[in-house]
Amino acid sequence: MTQASMVIVGGGKAGARAAVAFRENAWKGPVTLISDEALAPYDRPPLSKAAIMEDAEPQPVYLLDEGMMASLEVNFLRGSAATTIDRNAKTVSLADGTKIPYDRLLVATGAEPRRLLQAGAERALLLRDLADSAKIRSEFIGGNSVAIVGGGFIGLELAASAAKRGCRVTVIEAQPRILMRGIPPEIASRIAARHAEAGVAILTSAGIAQIGPDKILLSDGREIPADIVIAGIGAAPRIKLAEQAGLALDNGIACNTYLQTSDPHIFAVGDCCSFPHPVFGNERLRLEAWRNASDQAIVAVENMLGGQRPYEAVPWFWTDQYELTLQIAGLPHRGVSIVQRVPKEGALILCHLDGEGRLVGASGIGQGNSIARDIRLLEMLIGKKAAPDPAALADTTFQLKSLLKP
Ligand code: NAP
Repeated sequence: MTQASMVIVGGGKAGARAAVAFRENAWKGPVTLISDEALAPYDRPPLSKAAIMEDAEPQPVYLLDEGMMASLEVNFLRGSAATTIDRNAKTVSLADGTKIPYDRLLVATGAEPRRLLQAGAERALLLRDLADSAKIRSEFIGGNSVAIVGGGFIGLELAASAAKRGCRVTVIEAQPRILMRGIPPEIASRIAARHAEAGVAILTSAGIAQIGPDKILLSDGREIPADIVIAGIGAAPRIKLAEQAGLALDNGIACNTYLQTSDPHIFAVGDCCSFPHPVFGNERLRLEAWRNASDQAIVAVENMLGGQRPYEAVPWFWTDQYELTLQIAGLPHRGVSIVQRVPKEGALILCHLDGEGRLVGASGIGQGNSIARDIRLLEMLIGKKAAPDPAALADTTFQLKSLLKP
């Protein structure tokens, strides 16, 4: 396939990592990266944290800059929206009518933030790109009232950043508690307590009736001061292109274990891709997580070049709020029992075991890197489908590493 052409649609973490991976795999043919953003691919985790907190105007943290793109000979098409895929002709059309031929195509179109629909919702800011982050930062002025709708990752990370900048912050969450999806209550309550300590008001089971010019009216009649409104109410996979092309969909673009779509010449990775996970009984997952985007890109590229490698990385993600780091490995929701491990004073790790005693998830919270090593080892045990002795998991004098030995 030396003259074949590899095309990537999407210039986020997954698309950028894939471009590099083609060259790491000694692919000598053309690689084209199509991105609808004006900037070269940059990292998004800082957008809700460092980019907001730094004194200077936020600058993009590039994943691939012009120099790297030139040295890797990546044909970068910036500000170009891919509008259609013609699977028979094997071309991708851009908004300006240009047609890009491909032999293998990687769809890495990500996810887009959901929008509030209530009256006045046009005032709600969203966070997806660097410009959104800069806009939010410019509004985080000490004394301003900030109402954040959604107590998920974006909402809580921004709440911590706003509180640090001296804003009066309210988080409005529809569910009975924050971080309802995927984070155990024991961990979520510690995050909630830390926000309360910083003066952030968290309102749960709260519905929004209307968004006014300087306040939010809740369904129960309460009024929340809101110089600024931000919506962090989840994201939906960007599947328009795949849908138009007639690819199979199932909570995102449905891929097999090789990250191949229903068209063998097209692969998908990152937030837009759903796939069966072999470590978890082939449960179909769609992960909106930074590391997943990167790991999937590496595996998909190998398979686009003729490999047959299943994607089986254990899901992992983190969030930093104040001095606390929260990390989750595996799928805690598959657990039926929990073993607690306290690696350091003030830190907490929960090991989630399924009905057969298999470790299926680990969730932890602590300052700095107090939980990182144990979570890493637990993640490896999850990947090995291990069923460790619960007493060993609870005993911090016991070396988890020894459980990894055959
Ligand atoms: P999220 O983590 O899914 O959280 C959204 C929260 O808002 C959920 O608790 C949701 O409840 C709630 N919600 C939904 N509709 C609501 C409404 N009308 N009123 C009040 N609450 C409502 O999504 P996110 O925080 O918006 O983040 C978006 C994306 O960015 C995700 O892909 C996320 O993973 C990613 N991100 C990740 C990180 C990280 O990993 N550290 C950081 C920032 C962003 P339901 O569950 O009932 O919908």
